[in-house]
Amino acid sequence: MDRFVWQVARSVTEAATLAGRTVAEAMLADPGQPAAPDCVVLKAGGIDLLDLMKEGLLRPSRVVNLREVPGLAAITEDSSGLRIGTLVTLEQLATHPALRQRYAALADAVASSASPQIRHVATLGGNLLQRPRCWYFRSVAHHCARKGGEHCFAFAGENQYHAVFGHEGCAIVHPSTAATALVAFDARVELVNAQGVPRSVPLGAFLVGPGIDVKRETDLGAGEVLTAVLLPPTAASTRSVFLKQAARSSSDWSIADVAVVLDRAPDGRCQRACIVLGAAAPVPWRAQQAEAALVGQMIDAAVARTAGQAAIAGAVPLSRNAYKLPILATLVRRAVLQAAGAPEPENGR
Ligand SMILES: Cc1cc2nc3c(=O)[nH]c(=O)nc-3n(C[C@H](O)[C@H](O)[C@H](O)COP(=O)(O)OP(=O)(O)OC[C@H]3O[C@@H](n4cnc5c(N)ncnc54)[C@H](O)[C@@H]3O)c2cc1C
Ligand code: SF4
Repeated sequence: MDRFVWQVARSVTEAATLAGRTVAEAMLADPGQPAAPDCVVLKAGGIDLLDLMKEGLLRPSRVVNLREVPGLAAITEDSSGLRIGTLVTLEQLATHPALRQRYAALADAVASSASPQIRHVATLGGNLLQRPRCWYFRSVAHHCARKGGEHCFAFAGENQYHAVFGHEGCAIVHPSTAATALVAFDARVELVNAQGVPRSVPLGAFLVGPGIDVKRETDLGAGEVLTAVLLPPTAASTRSVFLKQAARSSSDWSIADVAVVLDRAPDGRCQRACIVLGAAAPVPWRAQQAEAALVGQMIDAAVARTAGQAAIAGAVPLSRNAYKLPILATLVRRAVLQAAGAPEPENGR
């Protein structure tokens, strides 16, 4: 790792003023060159940032630590919903009583992420802004399209963990497990610039697919700090479920995951459904055909099966990842049944 200057920010505007580049911009510099003096990046928990630096993919001249900025590590609730400060750790989220009660899919998504050691350090803001895990992207030997090169190596290469939807020129899957659930709850992110001016955008719009720009995953501007994630209130009838499939049962990335948020009318029919697939596309992927298959229905095994199949309609698997489709369909079917409180059929189908 190259030498860098360590700086501690004491306020959001100080951090935003110091942040010369986003990490995505900084990584477009030639990895063979020493850091430019103006290459200043922000650090929260440091899990992803230090990985990139150790791997030789990112060479900042200065790293600005956000962790001493007051007021960014709280979870508060009022009539407009829940406000989660950017520095709240994944472990705090996974165990928070309001989340466990009213946003269970989010608490479960976060609890299933990484390892206990990582969850105690990693922050929600850093989790949403981490860079993709594509192994070509993480290799200094592969100057792929996301790093400013000409090619995506995944399409003709080892693509078993890559996207089955929305892979226009780049087939990453979005790395944040929390994002799957946050999009299902219609979360927004709050950002503040160097002048102290805040803006708030839906997380679904903040996360950028390769069809918009292949070189970044978010709409974060240089000189902006993500300050909070905002969750709207849930109705008394809201039920949510998150399910994940990974190769190993702990400390492993998702092969596929799903968050389902359902609201039911007093007669038990589904009033509103939000279904989001994770590890399936470069952004958390709304399964709108599956949602449509649920609205107005009494949910039973047949309806849930139809929703599962609808969730994978339009998928375009790559040469080695078609195995993800039945996994995604099954996760959706099971999550819908669980959220509706309906029993799994005895034959499991
Ligand atoms: C073995 C392993 C397994 C993992 N498994 C999972 C998993 O299953 N699911 C999952 O979601 N993740 C997983 N991760 C990733 C891990 O959760 C993330 O690296 C971590 O959440 C990043 O958070 P951080 O606070 O350390 O961010 P940092 O590394 O400090 O920052 C990440 C990025 O965000 C920027 N940044 C951070 N905070 C702000 C802010 N407030 N404003 C503007 N920019 C900011 C930084 O500049 C940097 O670009 C895994 C990691 C490892 C090593
Ligand atoms: S999937 Fe994206 S990050 Fe991976 S090699 Fe292709 S362009 Fe690069």
